[in-house]
Amino acid sequence: MSEKTPELIALPLVPIIDESIIPNKTPTTEDPLDQVFPIVEMFYSVQGEGFHAGEPSIFIRFGGCNLACEWCDTKFDNWENINLGRIIQEITSWDCKRIVLTGGEPALQDIATLSSVLRPMGYSLAIETNGTIEIPNDMLDWICVSPKDQMYASVNIRQRSGDELKVVWVGQSLDMYDELKKGFTHRFLQPVYDESKGVEWNGKNFRTTCELVKNNSEWRLSLQTHKWMVVD
Ligand code: SF4
Repeated sequence: MSEKTPELIALPLVPIIDESIIPNKTPTTEDPLDQVFPIVEMFYSVQGEGFHAGEPSIFIRFGGCNLACEWCDTKFDNWENINLGRIIQEITSWDCKRIVLTGGEPALQDIATLSSVLRPMGYSLAIETNGTIEIPNDMLDWICVSPKDQMYASVNIRQRSGDELKVVWVGQSLDMYDELKKGFTHRFLQPVYDESKGVEWNGKNFRTTCELVKNNSEWRLSLQTHKWMVVD
């Protein structure tokens, strides 16, 4: 590797916060359309990173997360409680059948209800999760785990299989994924992007991650292209 890893922010170990902060992980209504979800935002855009980069997708961002990562740039603590019927009204206004469940931590939600209603409507459901909560089998069409244990060693990764493992690289050894990576079909390394740092810091981090991928060909490079373009 020709360049040194950029200096990284020293982060404290953050314990997992009790997931009961979101009370609706199991169905609470007879009619699934009445089931309420904490929604930060819903929007139609193009996937900016990972295996599906470039693919038009509907994003449903849920409120709440069971982690508190220091580098988190997602606003997930302000949401509106919206029932599934209203969610469907919104998403059917877009000509797209691919939905990405994101957050916050979407695995805190009642995935079973979302799956049982949305998949029969022809939607393909993908999730972007931190992997700390195991997802029931056969409810989703694409599972992308982006683990956070590179900086928070106390975080247990319980979802150990899926379609895509997307690792934010902050200077950690790839050896730590020797076991976890076996459960995933596709593996991506993504340089950490820190908007508070300049082009030079982020550029060096990009280049170092490129070198890492060149030397570890089972991994692919993932870039957060939506951030460069300043789109959602
Ligand atoms: S797991 Fe993701 S959404 Fe939750 S705090 Fe960490 S970076 Fe933010």
